[in-house]
Amino acid sequence: MNMAKDPICGMNVNEKTAKIKSEYMGKTYYFCNQACKTTFDKNPMRYAGEQEKHSGHSCDCGCR
Ligand SMILES: [Zn+2]
Repeated sequence: MNMAKDPICGMNVNEKTAKIKSEYMGKTYYFCNQACKTTFDKNPMRYAGEQEKHSGHSCDCGCR
């Protein structure tokens, strides 16, 4: 089982069942919620590669 991390809120997402995903710079990112994907797509540079940091958290999907 492959778990990916939602770069927006840090929640674990199952890659097998995740339907909400986005590709950026050749990498696939998975999201728990459409709101997280929208946030990522608006500013992918800010979140890509910053999965360990949670400053500027702006997830509004209620999954925190
Ligand atoms: Zn999320």
